[in-house]
Amino acid sequence: MKILVINCGSSSLKYQLIDSDTEGVLAKGLCERIGIDGSCITYQKAGCDKVKTEIPMPDHTKAVELVIAALTDPATGVIKDLSEIGAVGHRVVHGGEKFASSVIITDEVIKAVEECNDLAPLHNPANIIGINACQQLMPGVPQVAVFDTAFHQTMPPEAFLYAVPYSYYRDYGVRKYGFHGTSHSYVSKRVAEILGKDYNSIKTIVCHLGNGASICAVDCGKSVETSMGLTPLMGLVMGTRSGEIDPGAMEYIAKKENLDLEGVMNVLNKKSGMLGLSELSSDFRDIDQAMEAGNEKAAAAYNVFIHRVVSYVGAYAAVMNGVDAIVFTAGVGENDPSVRANVCKSLGYLGVKIDEEANKSREDEVIISAPDSKVAVLKVATNEELMIARETLALVK
Ligand code: ADP
Repeated sequence: MKILVINCGSSSLKYQLIDSDTEGVLAKGLCERIGIDGSCITYQKAGCDKVKTEIPMPDHTKAVELVIAALTDPATGVIKDLSEIGAVGHRVVHGGEKFASSVIITDEVIKAVEECNDLAPLHNPANIIGINACQQLMPGVPQVAVFDTAFHQTMPPEAFLYAVPYSYYRDYGVRKYGFHGTSHSYVSKRVAEILGKDYNSIKTIVCHLGNGASICAVDCGKSVETSMGLTPLMGLVMGTRSGEIDPGAMEYIAKKENLDLEGVMNVLNKKSGMLGLSELSSDFRDIDQAMEAGNEKAAAAYNVFIHRVVSYVGAYAAVMNGVDAIVFTAGVGENDPSVRANVCKSLGYLGVKIDEEANKSREDEVIISAPDSKVAVLKVATNEELMIARETLALVK
């Protein structure tokens, strides 16, 4: 079956058409600046170069229409017509406590996702717009929602409750939800497969280090702790997000900078993290380069980032009472050997030993620990789209 995977943002739409028989990507691309001047669609057929076309896209329905037109184009498309698309899998950011697994989308599901809008005001409404656009243009084709939060619904209350008045949890759903669940789930499963271990009997710590970053403790196939919280602002140092910060600092910053709550949140989400600390860039490639050139602020930002990862790995090894495997994934985790090496340098107490040569490998999936390391360390390329396609297939079959 051919499955269209859609990841819809407020002004963008990423898509992949995946053949579930081979799990190969037939074509993929991105619609950008939807509803804004200068919108464009990028289309890439497997084995071919990317083609970028500027074309007006007043709304997401037009974007989906253009995706379908690209996929069915007689000259450059990959399918004859729409009837070849067996199902659509949508990434949905927040499923609250309502969704502990993926679901076939119905009117009730859309209503329940809408009820989570308050928890993810930037993401969920955009995800629903994408769902509506696909329903309109592909009536009768089953649509599936795959939630970023679902994998973490196995966390026990001691991990997900915040120590605030209990009524805030009961009445408003204030708790830790966690994100990147599709990635943590995919990568932790791959680790078990690569190591030839039973997924339901190993303890894995997944370090998803991208522009957004989170860590997850996966104990016998279940997420038991993760570093993002009610929102994706918590935890690690990210590209532009602060991660963990004393809540008391918010009042202090507000007074000093004469900001309201919205202003403080804007700083913590968009002007903090690696960008804020380095006063240079949110991108690790720029940070690495600047460090090599002797930039001290870039080095300080880098060190804070590493220190935070090391702290969380230690905490999660404690939470699981041990760890069998540590895995690095996402943009930084997959591509930056120095980050992996520097994190592992501080994990000697767990018996972690790195194979420096293996750590330099550019392969997608590599065991980077030395043969006598007590904990297996790997890098594994994440593949959220494939995971969404698998979940979609499992539900529509
Ligand atoms: P997200 O999906 O959260 O937007 P990604 O997982 O795609 O983020 O990661 C993007 C980040 O990965 C970039 O901002 C950059 O910091 C980092 N990155 C990508 N390639 C490299 C590289 N070769 N070396 C170091 N960092 C890299």
